[in-house]
Amino acid sequence: MTIQERDKNVVWHPFTQLKNSPLPISIVRGEGACFYDENGKRYIDGIASWWVNIHGHSHPYLAKKISEQLLTLEHAIFSGFTHEPAVQLAERLLKRLPINQSKIFYSDNGSTAVEVALKMAFQYWSNQSISKTKVIAFENAYHGDTFGGMSVGSRNVFNMPFSKLLFDVIHIPVPVKGKEQECLAAMKNALKEQDIACFIFEPLVQGAGGMVMYSEKILDELITLCNNKNVITIADEVMTGFGRTGKFFASDFLQNKPDIISMSKGITGGVMPLGATSSAQFIYDAFLSDDKMKTFFHGHSYTGNTTACSAALASLDLFDKSETFENIKRIELQHNVFRQNIKWHPSLIDSRQLGTILAFEIKTKEHTHYLNSIAENISAFFTSRGIILRPLGNVLYVLPPYCISNIDLQFIYTTIEEFLDYTSTS
Ligand SMILES: *Cc1c(COP(=O)(O)O)cnc(C)c1O
Repeated sequence: MTIQERDKNVVWHPFTQLKNSPLPISIVRGEGACFYDENGKRYIDGIASWWVNIHGHSHPYLAKKISEQLLTLEHAIFSGFTHEPAVQLAERLLKRLPINQSKIFYSDNGSTAVEVALKMAFQYWSNQSISKTKVIAFENAYHGDTFGGMSVGSRNVFNMPFSKLLFDVIHIPVPVKGKEQECLAAMKNALKEQDIACFIFEPLVQGAGGMVMYSEKILDELITLCNNKNVITIADEVMTGFGRTGKFFASDFLQNKPDIISMSKGITGGVMPLGATSSAQFIYDAFLSDDKMKTFFHGHSYTGNTTACSAALASLDLFDKSETFENIKRIELQHNVFRQNIKWHPSLIDSRQLGTILAFEIKTKEHTHYLNSIAENISAFFTSRGIILRPLGNVLYVLPPYCISNIDLQFIYTTIEEFLDYTSTS
């Protein structure tokens, strides 16, 4: 039996309708920005393996640091115990995070980093016996697949089976170009209610919602409105963190700093699962009490996993070298040149870019977004040419590991152009 047949017998894959689905590609090796399948075919990982990979696959330095950690201390309970990698990672993240951030809470992934942020915000109020339980979030948002994450996310086909079980959230329009005033008005209106606990947002780029972008200026205004009404602000930096947008965090573009920040995806360079939620001192202080009921009763078996923390530290070592941000700038520039060349193509509705994220909205006959059948055609077109791009509905995007070579980037661009020509004639 091939590995694909064995897979079909026993494995349930994420986000995949497994009835009549094409067999998954069996990857045996990764190197730099590429994968190799069992037949030796090379694939450029154009989407950084679901937005997690930063420095390339099977990076020798990361592998060395992680294996050293594994042979020293692989994992330890994190309640009542601590260890150097978790402490050092918190110290080094706080140096990179906005100045108002002062504590790090660890979890395992992006959804849990968001759950932790929401629970911190809700309990911040309940610890002070203030009844505030409502959340403001953007329409079209994605904050993960756990119940809290789904609740604050947009209501769509992905969470429809659970819609009755999700808590109430006030969704306001995304302040894309031309919608800023509508968004501000909706925010002001929402803030008239007394019981708003927090406002959660993906700063500057809504990832899963189709790489939808909006300006830092409007986000600064929204945060000011929240600050004036004592509403906690939560930046979900799970996708935007670790250099994706051209700065270390998307929050670095802002004048007003969020109170809580969720991180995951790129935190370990894409090697190990890890989530982290940072908070401002005033949030943390609201949990300090002689009353045990005010404790933050949240944790995971693998909270602060030693090996994952060591992976994150090794990834930060690479960020400390000038090469990483030089690569980010290089990608940013090339994305921009390509976008300027292609943006009037008749197959495009829109194109957008921030940092290393480049997105194209493609004209289709169907009006549905997420389940648009063009997505499968696009994936197949690129996979056959040795490029991994998985569009979000009709939004095709490139979000590569920062080590991608110019040759591979150019190959992605020329293949996109070929695809656009092909869709405009078919
Ligand atoms: C991917 C993502 C999440 C969820 O992270 P997982 O690790 O997949 O649980 C949450 N928020 C944003 C903005 C994301 O892009």
